[in-house]
Amino acid sequence: MNVFEAVRENGITARQAAEHCGIKINRNGMAVCPFHKDKNPSMKIDRRYYCFGCGEKGDAIDFVAKFYGLGKKDAAVQIAAAFGISFDDNGGRKPPPIRKRKLSPEQRFERVEKKCFRVLSNYLCRLREWQEQYAPHKAEEEWHPLFCEALEKKDYIEYLLDVLLYAPLSERVELVTDYGEEVLKIERRLEQCTEGTAGGTGKNYEQDGAGGTAGNMV
Ligand SMILES: [Zn+2]
Repeated sequence: MNVFEAVRENGITARQAAEHCGIKINRNGMAVCPFHKDKNPSMKIDRRYYCFGCGEKGDAIDFVAKFYGLGKKDAAVQIAAAFGISFDDNGGRKPPPIRKRKLSPEQRFERVEKKCFRVLSNYLCRLREWQEQYAPHKAEEEWHPLFCEALEKKDYIEYLLDVLLYAPLSERVELVTDYGEEVLKIERRLEQCTEGTAGGTGKNYEQDGAGGTAGNMV
C-alpha cells in the first residue's frame, strides 16, 4: 500500500489534518481560511474542505500540501507520520528481486583461500601465545596440553601459511582442496577455545578439548 492509499484507507479527514496544522474549527465546522486574508470563518471543513471566500478545496493531503507548501507525496508522508500510519514507501510497486551474485570459480577460490589464510593465521597466533603462556617452569612439571599443541602444530601451520603466501596458484589450489576440511576443524577448534578460555582456565580447555579435534589434526 503506498502512502496515498494508506492515508485514504485510514480515513484521515481534512478536518483532522487541519487541526493537526493548528487550525481552529468552530462548532459549525467552519474555520478561518489560512489560504486567503480571511476575517470570518469562511472555510467549511469536514471530510474535505471548501473555502467560500477563495474557493480553495480538497482533501486532507491537499490541505497539508497547500498549508506547508509541500508536494502531495510529501504531504501524505507527513500525515502518515503524524497519525502513525504505516505504508510501503515503494509506491505499491513490488520491490525488485534480489539477484544472487554469481561467483566465478576464481572468485570462489579466492574467497575460500582468504578464509583458510585467516583461520590459519589466527590459529598460529593462538599457538604462539600458548607456547609462551603455558611453557613449563620446572623440568618435572607435566606439560600443559595447550603447550603440547603449540609445539606439535606450530611449524606445520607456518608451513601451510607459507604455501598460501608464496606458492604458485596450482599448489595453493591443491592446499585449499586438500586442507579445506581441516581448516574448518581448526575454525571450530578456535571457537571452542574462545568459549573455553572465556572462563580463563586450562581446565575448561581440557573439557572442551576432550571432544575436540586437536588429536586428529595431522
Ligand atoms: Zn480561503
